[in-house]
Amino acid sequence: MGMAGMFWQTGFQLQSGLIGSLAILGLMGLGQIIARLNKSSAEQRQLNETLRQEIARRQDAEKRLRHDALHDPLTALANRSLILDRVRHCVQLAKRRSDYLFAVLFMDVDDFKVVNDSLGHAVGDRLLVEVARELTECVRATDIIARCTDSVASRVGGDEFVILLDGIKQQDDAVVVAERIQERLKRPYDLSGHQRVTTVSMGITTNQVSDPETQDMLRDADIALYQAKARGKARSVFFDRPMRDEAMARLQTENDLRQAVERRELRLQFQPIVSVANSGIEGFEVLVRWEDSRRGLVPPSKFIPTAEETGLIVPIGEWVFREACRLVQSWQEKFPHARKVPVNVNVSGRQLTEGGFLEQVDRILEDTGLDPMYLNLEITESVMMQNLAVNVIRNLADRGFTIYMDDFGTGYSSLSCLHVLPLHGIKLDRSFIDRIAVDQRHATSVQAVVILAHSHDLKVVAEGIESAEQLAPLKDFDCDFAQGFYFSKPIDASEAATLIEG
Ligand code: C2E
Ligand code: MG
Ligand code: MG
Repeated sequence: MGMAGMFWQTGFQLQSGLIGSLAILGLMGLGQIIARLNKSSAEQRQLNETLRQEIARRQDAEKRLRHDALHDPLTALANRSLILDRVRHCVQLAKRRSDYLFAVLFMDVDDFKVVNDSLGHAVGDRLLVEVARELTECVRATDIIARCTDSVASRVGGDEFVILLDGIKQQDDAVVVAERIQERLKRPYDLSGHQRVTTVSMGITTNQVSDPETQDMLRDADIALYQAKARGKARSVFFDRPMRDEAMARLQTENDLRQAVERRELRLQFQPIVSVANSGIEGFEVLVRWEDSRRGLVPPSKFIPTAEETGLIVPIGEWVFREACRLVQSWQEKFPHARKVPVNVNVSGRQLTEGGFLEQVDRILEDTGLDPMYLNLEITESVMMQNLAVNVIRNLADRGFTIYMDDFGTGYSSLSCLHVLPLHGIKLDRSFIDRIAVDQRHATSVQAVVILAHSHDLKVVAEGIESAEQLAPLKDFDCDFAQGFYFSKPIDASEAATLIEG
């Protein structure tokens, strides 16, 4: 239909509607007309009211949607988008006003994972709500606190908070707030029947020390948070530039380490473990080294912590395990008349708890044909205390592996709980042995540990023996085995093979 046709049709409808209305008026009395008008205005009012309610409802819903998009559903704090937006705003302001100072605090609840894993996610959530409530009471209304969760999937682990202190007078003001937060959270409160004290680690930066760009500030606060954790948690650390260089170097190590296994840059050394009574070889501890083209031979203390943090310890640990089994099996085949001695392999916590370790071990034993009686596993004291790890360790013990608690004396385990763990021996840490020859009281406590370990049917290996003076008291105490530079430094596989051949 053309425009003209439409016009004519509309005109006709109007005309016929008017004629119809006039006809009705003609038929009605005045009272009827008034009643009808009243009725229609009441209907109109009703309609208006409904409309008003509907608009308010939609506005509410829209407000809620907008709020939800910018807030954390659990704690009702701001979320990452909102805090980023506010930091961006502060960054702009700082560019216009040279005297404007603001701070970003990156905060992480210490050992939150332990609460979540041991008491359940519901309790973990309650803890986060509690922390959020305390935080809001430590800052001004104009400051912003956000709980950061990267995605819905990571919500459970979202124990990171970012606090924006808007317009502070001096850098120290940020430190004062951080201290106030620590103090406040230290007050014990009840969490599902458990009295709990919460500590947090914090990284702080301001637009004076960081490059004043949104992402840079958050990254620098995060770098300082990493330092706070590395220095023992429960503290706040102020960002400085050398920290950033260190973080870059760490990232570089991580990248290089990622390729180390594939590039075959890892190798094993073996340190003899001897009998205290006659100094004869009873086994070896397997120690990993990294031969990096740029760094040279890197000791484990320089890369195992990074490997643990990043999870790279899992593939590295698998390689160490397989390589150790392969070598021991090859020695047994090559020297059938030599005495068969076991090797001790260090196993990290993440290997045990990340899942799949038992299957991995079974596969390696099958592939290499090694009897598990020639493998001793060294697991540190702190890992032994984790419930998740203990189950795996029990399964390993059932398979015939011998389990040693490594670095005994550096953690918190009490001697009284040794008998409940699936354990065959302990390795006394070097720090324990250090003063044995010079401090009588120290020697007495080493003796007490040996007596108690023996009463639980546990063997004792003393680590880090560097002199005959350190060895002498161990003989008196009937300590079983010893390891240290006094006997031998860690040696290459070929040298170890020569020792075995005899
Ligand atoms: P650890 O398991 O306690 O190993 C003993 C460490 O003490 C070794 O250091 C060894 O070389 C050193 N040591 C032995 N005798 C003496 C001595 O008389 N004096 C002194 N000063 N040191 C002595 P290394 O090889 O640097 O290893 C350090 C740590 O790295 C190990 O401590 C272990 O925790 C870890 N590590 C080494 N290899 C592996 C591995 O394959 N996997 C895992 N997860 N950790 C490993
Ligand atoms: Mg060890
Ligand atoms: Mg040790």
